[in-house]
Amino acid sequence: MFKEKLKYTIEIVLLIGLFLGYYYYINPSKEVIKPVGNIEENLKIYFIDVGQADSTLIYNNGEYSLIDAGNNKDGNKLIKYFKSLGINKFKYVITTHVHEDHIGGMDNIIREFDIEHFLMPDTYTDNMTYTEVLKELKKKNIIIETPNINDTFTMEEINFKVLSIGNDLENLNDSSIVLKANYKNTNYLFTGDATKEVEKKIMNQDIQSDLIKVSHHGSYDATGLDFLEKVNPKYAIISVEKDNDYHFPHDIVLNNLNKLNIKIYRTDLDGTIIASSDGDNIIFEKIKTDTNQK
Ligand SMILES: [Zn+2]
Repeated sequence: MFKEKLKYTIEIVLLIGLFLGYYYYINPSKEVIKPVGNIEENLKIYFIDVGQADSTLIYNNGEYSLIDAGNNKDGNKLIKYFKSLGINKFKYVITTHVHEDHIGGMDNIIREFDIEHFLMPDTYTDNMTYTEVLKELKKKNIIIETPNINDTFTMEEINFKVLSIGNDLENLNDSSIVLKANYKNTNYLFTGDATKEVEKKIMNQDIQSDLIKVSHHGSYDATGLDFLEKVNPKYAIISVEKDNDYHFPHDIVLNNLNKLNIKIYRTDLDGTIIASSDGDNIIFEKIKTDTNQK
């Protein structure tokens, strides 16, 4: 009798062990801080690893928006990734500014997906990829919408506010569309490549955010300590290529982030980074990518 009980206990322990082993096998690198509810009800922000470039996908309640589309070579990769997520339409496609590392894959995106609104600053550049973007927009009869500072727009339960936009042809980085997104009790700051000049201008607005997409790939010309103190984020995302020619992210930016105990995620080290939120907590997931394997 005792022997049988012991055998039964051992079997149960083994089964639990197997289950836990399997669970951790299928969930290897998720940094879950606190579980959130049904993912369908949640906000998800994908900071896609596009090497030395930016591309951010935002999901809420079945709708998607996109901020920037990587370099020219990333176009097909992005299409494949978005199709694997079941995307066929974007509510907003936002081009923060017209540098190649932000609009490179945009012509592919315009060709492949339905786009309700296409937002871009009123500037131009003579690179080929910009001409391609204009050509594709024209083919699909998509109008370029240029927002003004303080304009707001919504996607499901997310409220976006334009904090900055410019039309300075001499300084395309500072013409970036800078956006703050609010989702329930959480806030997110998308900075494009705006520099400290823009930071100075928006310093006294409501810029507090839980998460910041660090401007200009971690360049020293942005992300000043006084600005960061005002934003007061818990998390920072740096979209950057491993061993890039510009030596991004610069030490001064990393030091500023560390001084304020801000948790840093980097696409060169972490791959694609997914931030999910139930409106109170933000959790992170990292997907290893091959972009940074040199
Ligand atoms: Zn850039």
